[in-house]
Amino acid sequence: MPAWTDLLRDIPDFPKPGILFKDITPVLADAEAFAGAIAAMAEPWRGVALDAVVGIEARGFILGAALARELDVGFVPVRKPGKLPGHTLSLEYGLEYGRDRLEIHADAMPAGARVIVIDDVLATGGTLKAGVQLVEQQGAVVVGTGVLVELGFLHARDAWEHVAPLHAAAVY
Ligand code: AMP
Repeated sequence: MPAWTDLLRDIPDFPKPGILFKDITPVLADAEAFAGAIAAMAEPWRGVALDAVVGIEARGFILGAALARELDVGFVPVRKPGKLPGHTLSLEYGLEYGRDRLEIHADAMPAGARVIVIDDVLATGGTLKAGVQLVEQQGAVVVGTGVLVELGFLHARDAWEHVAPLHAAAVY
C-alpha cells in the first residue's frame, strides 16, 4: 500500500512559471490515501477540547470538513469575498503580488469557541495567518492550525511567532 505522501503530485509552472504546485487531488481520489492524510492531520488534536474546524476556501474546505468529521466537531468555512450570504466579517491581507480578502459569518461560532484553522498547503503562510486573525476577530479562540503540506523551503515558520501552534502532516 503506498503512503498518502506518494500520491502528492508536483506540477511545475502552475498556476504561473516558477511555481511548483503541490496537487492533492490524487490523494483525495484514493480512499486509503485520503484516510491516511486526514488521520495524519487529526493526530495532534485527538483528545484536545475543540468546538469546530475552520477551513479556508477552497481546498481547506475538503480537508477541513473531513477533519471535522474525524474529530467529531462542526465545520466553519472562511470564504473568498461575496460568497457568504449572512452578515460577514472581512479581513484584507497581502499576497506575493497584490492583496486578497477573506470573510467569515459574524455569527459562525459562539464567543470563546475553541477551533483549529486548516488549509491544504502552507507556502508563505499569509493565507493561514489571515484566517487565524479573522477567526480571532470573530471571537473564537484559535487553539492551533494545520496543513497537509508545508513548503519548508519558504520558511513561513520563521515568521510564525505569536501565531497559534502549527502542525504540518508533511514537510517538503
Ligand atoms: P500562502 O503563500 O501560504 O498564503 O499560500 C497561498 C494559498 O495558495 C494557500 O491557500 C495554498 O493552498 C496555495 N498555494 C500556495 N503555494 C502553493 C503550492 N506551491 N502548491 C499548492 N498550493 C499552493
